[in-house]
Parts: sequence; C-alpha cells; structure tokens
Amino acid sequence: MAFLLREHLRRPLPPAPSGPARQPGSETAPEPQRVDAESLSGLCCRACGIRITYPEARIAVAGSHQHHFVNPGGASFHIGCFDRAPGCHASGKAFREWSWFAGYAWRVGLCAGCRAHLGWRYESMNADVFFGIIVAQLAPCTHAGDPGADAAP
Ligand SMILES: [Zn+2]
Repeated sequence: MAFLLREHLRRPLPPAPSGPARQPGSETAPEPQRVDAESLSGLCCRACGIRITYPEARIAVAGSHQHHFVNPGGASFHIGCFDRAPGCHASGKAFREWSWFAGYAWRVGLCAGCRAHLGWRYESMNADVFFGIIVAQLAPCTHAGDPGADAAP
C-alpha cells in the first residue's frame, strides 16, 4: 500500500485530458478479461478436451509432484499435485479414511465437462487445498475447450 501511494505521488500530474481515460462501462466490469499465454495452454481432460488445470499449477506435496498410490481395492494411480484445477469439481463428502496424504481429507474430483473421474481434491483442517489429478487423465491442451485436441501433435 505504501509503495502504491509513493508511486502515485511521484507521478506528475497529467496534462489536459486528450481522450477518455476509461472506456464506458469499465466501472461495472472489475473482472479482468485476460487472454494470455497461460489461458491458451494447459492440461485438458483426455476424454472431453476441456481445460482442467495448468502446468504452472504444479506443486510438490510430501516432497514430490507426482505420486504412485494403490487404493484399498487394489487399483493403482499415478497422480500429479496441483494447487488449482478449475476444471476438476469435487463431488460428495470429504473422507479422512484411506487418505494418501497425512492430515488431508479427500473428495472425489470429477471433470466439469464430462464427469469423468479425474482424481481427488484434498483439504486439510486449516483449509489448505490441492488437487491430485490422475496423470493419464490429462492431455496437453492445444485449443481452448476443443474436444479431441489431445490428438494433435
Ligand atoms: Zn472431461
């Protein structure tokens, strides 16, 4: 805050206005409509092609980004950890039993587009959240929301 104030004071006063300082209606649209490089890349659902998360959202949990786990039913999963996954919706109640990450409860994570099982959303007691996404369910996005994009080179 102090930094911003200083910058403001240092800036010389603008000369007489030469044009509209802001576009009409901009006051009612505080949400930036950014289309940047990140929004054009990403990791998409292999089944339906919608964007699930971003390479930049990769995080290490318990010392590693990727983990290999076997569930009580004997199925094995290779997952990657992400601090956000807008395309992965948590479903159902949170379970503490059989959690692969100590201190975290889990909920099933489904694709927002096709409801495919993508992995799990993990939540700690102090509201720390991350996603464990099954690596095989993700494919690099080449076009936003373009089904079948994973077939492109
Ligand atoms: Zn999907």
